[in-house]
Amino acid sequence: MTPRLTRPVPITVAHGDGIGPEIMDATLKIITAGGADLDVETIRIGQSVYAQGNTAGIDPEAWESLRRTKVFLKAPITTPQGGGFKSLNVTVRKAFGLFANVRPCPSYHPFISTRHPGMDVVIVRENEEDLYGGIEHRQTEDVVQCLKLITRPGSERVIRYAFEYARRYGRSKVTCFTKDNIMKMTDGLFHRVFNEVAADYPDLESEHWIIDIGAAKLADTPEAFDVIVVPNLYGDILSDVAAQIAGSVGLGGSANIGAEIAMFEAIHGSAPDIAGQNLANPSGLLLGAVQMLAHIGQGDVAERVHNAWLRTIEDGVHTVDVYDAARSTAKVGTSEFATAVISRLGEAPKTLRPVRYQAGTERITVQVRELPRSRKELVGIDVFVDSQKPVEEIAKVLETVAGPYLDLVMITNRGQKVYPGGVPETFCVDHWRCRFQGQDATSPVSYEDVVALLGRLAAAGLPFIKTEGLFTFDGQPGFSLGQGQ
Ligand code: NAD
Repeated sequence: MTPRLTRPVPITVAHGDGIGPEIMDATLKIITAGGADLDVETIRIGQSVYAQGNTAGIDPEAWESLRRTKVFLKAPITTPQGGGFKSLNVTVRKAFGLFANVRPCPSYHPFISTRHPGMDVVIVRENEEDLYGGIEHRQTEDVVQCLKLITRPGSERVIRYAFEYARRYGRSKVTCFTKDNIMKMTDGLFHRVFNEVAADYPDLESEHWIIDIGAAKLADTPEAFDVIVVPNLYGDILSDVAAQIAGSVGLGGSANIGAEIAMFEAIHGSAPDIAGQNLANPSGLLLGAVQMLAHIGQGDVAERVHNAWLRTIEDGVHTVDVYDAARSTAKVGTSEFATAVISRLGEAPKTLRPVRYQAGTERITVQVRELPRSRKELVGIDVFVDSQKPVEEIAKVLETVAGPYLDLVMITNRGQKVYPGGVPETFCVDHWRCRFQGQDATSPVSYEDVVALLGRLAAAGLPFIKTEGLFTFDGQPGFSLGQGQ
């Protein structure tokens, strides 16, 4: 091992709860023995912090450490039951803009049981947007709503990250999954940005699947995929499916990457049922730490540690969670497993493919393009009203309050058009979207006319829940055109 001439890299470490301290000790021992050159700052997170009444589960001083080091190696924590507590992961992700969640899901056939020996998928999940904004409202007696937000810059940076990751790690294809046949605007934007970014990477194959059939294909034939990039909710679900079918939920590590700060962890939780018994498998956290080493430019150490770990798995030295009498040669505890990996540093697997990381390379960064802003014009308003009356009565009132510059164009219930036209069989709830537009779909209307319309509606006894402006952008409608799409 050649001595490193650079200075130790500062990182922030949290030992967490449950099995956290045991697997963190094992991980730090292994990477230190592997030559990691780190200056470790330790912070407190989790149960002990929640117990002090801190609902975020992280000390204020800890934020300072994270801002200083910009690299966070985090053991799992136990999330307190009951309301009032915030998820620490969501807090850290959002506060620091950790936009990409990267989860490699390879199989370790024939050493770890799986039905998919050829699987080697990396899921890159958008980590901040989509339905995870926590913007939810109860709007009527019967109806609640969660807002799905997809942004162009948010989509572009995670998609670019996925392509850059594919290039860096010698992968050949990036696949995007969306449901843009239904959500034409939100998922449609993610898909469109994917196509735009893909054009900048002609050396990589790119493809898009509708998420339902794509997920089925992933569960059935995961070896057909390489790098997958997805919006937040789909990624949350698919990354667990992928880790499970690879046979390795307990072996999975993940990276949460931001423009400045990054967080590395295991994908499993704090396993309180086996805490303090030297039974836990430290592999998930160790593989998170391997991603961290590559991120901070110590790719040579990442490679040495990862290959020694692969060799340990291949030699059948297994913790109880992956132990199988037919495949394993030794059932070991957490600390013995760490010793086994350390004793194999410098070795590579013989059957599994050895990994390669470039030493000393810069971490992956992405730039989002500045696009010219479009000309935006208000051309109408969707007013959502709360009423238990039948649609004919609601329409009668709306027709009287519409005009002079805003006409009632349609009423929908749960997205289905019920006026004009409509069929008696449509099931309706107390939540009506009423669309008003000017002379035609692209004629500008004024905010004053909209406000006057809302005043007339309230006076007519139809209280509105909310409104959505209908805008055109460079003349193109920025809204879905109607019913049940
Ligand atoms: P879990 O992942 O902690 O445990 C599920 C099962 O897998 C348990 O039987 C456990 O013993 C086993 N297991 C997990 N990791 C293991 C390991 N490294 N080695 C051997 N066996 C292992 O999931 P859970 O029981 O649903 O959650 C426990 C706590 O962890 C909860 O409070 C949950 O909120 C929290 N959690 C935290 C994180 C995180 O901090 N990133 C992630 C998920 C869950």
